[in-house]
Amino acid sequence: MKILTLNCGSSSIKFDVIETDTDLIKQNKDCSIVRGIVEKIGLNDSIVRFNTDAGFDSKKILPVANHTEALKHIVDILTGSNPKILNSLNEINGVGHRVVHGGEAFSKSVIINNEVLREVEACSDFAPLHNPQNLKGISVAKDFFPNIPHIAVFDTGFHYSIPDYTFMYPLPYELYTKHKIRRYGFHGTSHRYVTAKAIEFLGLEESRSKIVTLHLGNGCSAAAVLGGKSIDTSMGHTPLEGLMMGTRTGDIDPAVVIHIMNKEKLSAQDVDSLLNKKSGFLGVSGLTNDLREIEEAREKGHKRATLAIDMYCYRLKKYIGAYMSALGGADAIVFTGGIGENSSVVRELSTNGMEFLGIKIENSKNNRNHGVLGKNRDEISDISTSDAKVKTIVIPTNEELMIARDTVLCIRGII
Ligand code: AMP
Repeated sequence: MKILTLNCGSSSIKFDVIETDTDLIKQNKDCSIVRGIVEKIGLNDSIVRFNTDAGFDSKKILPVANHTEALKHIVDILTGSNPKILNSLNEINGVGHRVVHGGEAFSKSVIINNEVLREVEACSDFAPLHNPQNLKGISVAKDFFPNIPHIAVFDTGFHYSIPDYTFMYPLPYELYTKHKIRRYGFHGTSHRYVTAKAIEFLGLEESRSKIVTLHLGNGCSAAAVLGGKSIDTSMGHTPLEGLMMGTRTGDIDPAVVIHIMNKEKLSAQDVDSLLNKKSGFLGVSGLTNDLREIEEAREKGHKRATLAIDMYCYRLKKYIGAYMSALGGADAIVFTGGIGENSSVVRELSTNGMEFLGIKIENSKNNRNHGVLGKNRDEISDISTSDAKVKTIVIPTNEELMIARDTVLCIRGII
């Protein structure tokens, strides 16, 4: 089957066409044919980029007014003659959509019908920046592909298994029953993908496996995965909790928020923007949210860049230790995401001094450049020393593949 995956944000649509089916999944032979992104939708200098496995690379800058136009560009890419990707749109058998928040309604991926749309809409309250965009993507895609199944794959799905004593906040209980205030967790598709890869790579027995997965990108989250199931994760009711991130604070004393609102005369909306968009690497360094640039500044002795990296790695280390305690040890620590796959500095600083827990990485292995994004997507590296009790591994994530696989499995009625 050929599956189109769509990841629709407020000003971008990422897409991938993946050849997959049950037998290909079993043999791990399913693969991407073309992938790309339409960025800066709504502006005059929108970017339409894509590349194919055959080595074709294209980038165009042109106005793309809205998501419908963006999807039209994607359809044109798929049906164009140079390069030839599909003979016709009829070759697409299903569309897999990333949906950020599935609330308590969805433990796994589902075929989208009106009831599913209503539930996703109801979860928009929890993810106002994401779910409405995901719904828009579904609606636009249904216009272009009216006669094939559309499947929703939820970021929250993998964390459905976390127990109540983990997902509850110590607030008055009625806030849970009335407003469903609880930890949901995100990046589930990525945590699920790298967990499966780690189990396969290390030859672990899934039911006995204990893995700490670290998805470190612009957004960052950790998960404690026991027997292949998530039992805890650092993001909470929203993607703001947990690890420090590109522009988000992660964990912070909630009283500080009230204090800042009073002192700086900020509205709820202002403070929301401060915590989500102006903090993290950007806020501490005063430079950028991009770790590559912060690492460069640190090399040149920039104090706040150094502080930002030290804070980031210290907080990450605390989560690794905490999740190893939650799991009662670990077979492996997995680094993934743009930072996890590429930053040897972060991997080193967040794991050093943890020999007492069995974590020990080999510098020469760590310093190799891993997971060149979009290229060696299958490369998995064990960067631990040969005598380390806990394996530290780097696994390039592949959320699109997971979305495509779920789409096939839903269509075939297997999940
Ligand atoms: P993602 O959201 O997964 O695309 O990850 C984005 C983050 O990965 C940004 O903070 C980038 O600076 C970071 N990143 C990507 N490549 C590198 C690299 N070679 N070294 C350090 N950080 C990187």
